[in-house]
Amino acid sequence: MVQSSVLGFPRMGKLRDLKKATEAYWGGKISRDDLLAEGKRLRQEHWKIQKDAGVDIIPSNDFAFYDQVLDHIQLFGVIPERYSKYNLHPVDEYFAMGRGLQKPDEGVDVPSLEMVKWFDSNYHYVKPTLQDNQTFKLAANPKPVVEFLEAKEAGVVTRPVILGPVSFLVLAKADRGQSVDPITQLDNLLPVYVELLNKLKAAGVEDVQIDEPILVFDLAAKAKAAFKPAYEKLGNLGAQAPRLTLATYFGDIVHNIDVLSSLQNLHGIHVDLVRNPEQLDTVIGALGPNQVLSAGVVDGRNIWKTNFQAAIEKVELAIQKLGKDRVIVATSSSLLHVPHTLASEKNLDAEIRDWFSFAVEKTAEVVIIAKAVTEGPASVKEQLEANAKSVQSRASSKRTNDPAVKARQASVTPEQHNRKSPFPVRHAEQGKSINLPLFPTTTIGSFPQTKEIRIQRNKFTKGEITPEEYEKFIEKEIQDVIKIQEELDLDVFVHGEPERNDMVQYFGERLTGYVFTTHAWVQSYGSRCVRPPIIVGDVSRPAPMTVKESKYAVSISKKPCKGMITGPVTCLRWSFPRDDVHQSVQAQQLALALRDEVVDLEAAGIQVIQVDEPALREGLPLRAGAEREAYLKWAVDAFRLATAGVTDNTQVHSHFCYSEFQDFFHAIAALDADVLSIENSKSDAKLLKVFIDEAYPRHIGPGVYDIHSPRVPSEQEIKDRIEEMLQYLRPDQLWVNPDCGLKTRQWPETKAAITNMNNAAKYFRQKY
Ligand code: GLN
Ligand code: ZN
Repeated sequence: MVQSSVLGFPRMGKLRDLKKATEAYWGGKISRDDLLAEGKRLRQEHWKIQKDAGVDIIPSNDFAFYDQVLDHIQLFGVIPERYSKYNLHPVDEYFAMGRGLQKPDEGVDVPSLEMVKWFDSNYHYVKPTLQDNQTFKLAANPKPVVEFLEAKEAGVVTRPVILGPVSFLVLAKADRGQSVDPITQLDNLLPVYVELLNKLKAAGVEDVQIDEPILVFDLAAKAKAAFKPAYEKLGNLGAQAPRLTLATYFGDIVHNIDVLSSLQNLHGIHVDLVRNPEQLDTVIGALGPNQVLSAGVVDGRNIWKTNFQAAIEKVELAIQKLGKDRVIVATSSSLLHVPHTLASEKNLDAEIRDWFSFAVEKTAEVVIIAKAVTEGPASVKEQLEANAKSVQSRASSKRTNDPAVKARQASVTPEQHNRKSPFPVRHAEQGKSINLPLFPTTTIGSFPQTKEIRIQRNKFTKGEITPEEYEKFIEKEIQDVIKIQEELDLDVFVHGEPERNDMVQYFGERLTGYVFTTHAWVQSYGSRCVRPPIIVGDVSRPAPMTVKESKYAVSISKKPCKGMITGPVTCLRWSFPRDDVHQSVQAQQLALALRDEVVDLEAAGIQVIQVDEPALREGLPLRAGAEREAYLKWAVDAFRLATAGVTDNTQVHSHFCYSEFQDFFHAIAALDADVLSIENSKSDAKLLKVFIDEAYPRHIGPGVYDIHSPRVPSEQEIKDRIEEMLQYLRPDQLWVNPDCGLKTRQWPETKAAITNMNNAAKYFRQKY
């Protein structure tokens, strides 16, 4: 019989219950016991959903109060001394590592561990940080054991999920000031895994899902070589340990297929057949004689209903070669990356709603597919028919296909991607009308989103105030921030983005081809959730989206004021994209819509236009090579198509919130933006060296202070920072700005920080 399996379930709960509970706990509003009880309630609820749906293999230990990698950091005792020295309760030590802890009266002040994007998703994990003399020690009551027993008590037999040792180490780094190469610690770490597996077995665990997602990366030789010793050990514990199913996701493992030969003693291998269906044959060929294939055919990363027929075909191919007992129907990855349930969406148009499937619904999907291949299609006839109808409706719907958009795409020319003149000519032209001093100062777009702004927006959304009243309110906000920027004496203003709830949603709401949900939250990091809009069809722009506010801001500004839009790649990446057309096609549609906006902004007298692309980097395919090159080509093309419609006089800015641009530099240069602002305040200024090495001619504003914390940087600190930057950048190409937008800050610290920033810029203006 073909079993069904879920690799992980979202933790937040139907109404973001976990977010509410953790934030209440942090705010001192509920007790630790209340928090733990809520965690337990959510786990039980999620197991029950899967059990009721008929899932055969249900995960446990997929729950985390903050992050699953952080769970492992604590589980293995990889806790830097700066946290352990306070002897906090384990729950508080856990959150201290996840989000930092400041309790001045108790003398506690420690920042969080580093948080990094989980593969190419918008989920962030906490990075394990190792010491040179790192030791590993299994926690007294290992969480995977506790949660297995908890499920068992509730009548659900689960398969605990743990992160494998090689991935744990490859995803780790040496702590500040330490030089240990994490992978060299494998021998020290393995005994802890052995102990954990022994304890799991003693608790009655028969099967464990051991995640080694790093197999989808291009691996350093040392990391790749670590699989053999690791799994020779963990896979040969006999009756002392559960069977292991090793899971990979978010890519193919064909380039690491030789590793599978040292994994043949494991019970099974899971691969992502949504992302990389073509790896099926190679993986089957590399399996051991009795090994089981867990076929990830239900997308854990997107919200589309699974095409049953296509999924069944994939699974049947595997069954032909392996037989029914050696194939499992699974989600492609954990369902962590999709919202909880479609049942919460009351406002979706019925036609479109029928195309979606969230975590609860996907849970049912694996069961139906497994049944179809086990008992034959007749056993789930109704479900298959309904599914085929839904798939057909989506493919042919007017909502997905817009011939005018397709026609416009067909007529895009190479010239449309190029500005009229090269940068030096543009720069000279822009200098005639945009008067800027040396070291011009500016901000990245948003100013504090105050409580008042949120209240008014809410009232407007609920219809409690009229559009005119809301517009008046927004105008007043714009007036205020322009006035403040005059007082602060900035050189290039922004309108402050008070009208925007979110930098992608705002545009999505104004474009055709997008839909929105009310409850479809997904965890981004810790308690933070995002509600990505969904691209369902061909995208176009029925009317200008930002021109009114920008035009108003310019009309009341004595200095240049930037028009501000979100770039095509970010609009795509921070949405749930379509899975029926290539992302490059969607990016180009967005680019054409944004191109019209940019041209309209210029026509409305806006001379400086910033097109934000903070998501450009995260879309980079995980492996070097053809796929990455292809991505860079279409992503850069989309940006250029969006921005190149203007005359030489218009100054195009772009912004990125990351600083690792070394492996990516040629793409950033290829954007041909007149001015770039990038995050830099927390990184080494040396990173900027690439700009001289590559003789980058255009202007750059590496952030001079961190906007993620309320801390006000001193003028001296900022001067020191600029001094460092000047080792790598020409004085005439350097702009002075913060790392990113200021929407999450309060006004007092914002004004204080910008005052210091501006004084620092003035100091250098004098000096040069
Ligand atoms: N213009 C946006 C802002 O200032 C940019 C945000 C971002 O890069 N994430 O808020
Ligand atoms: Zn940013």
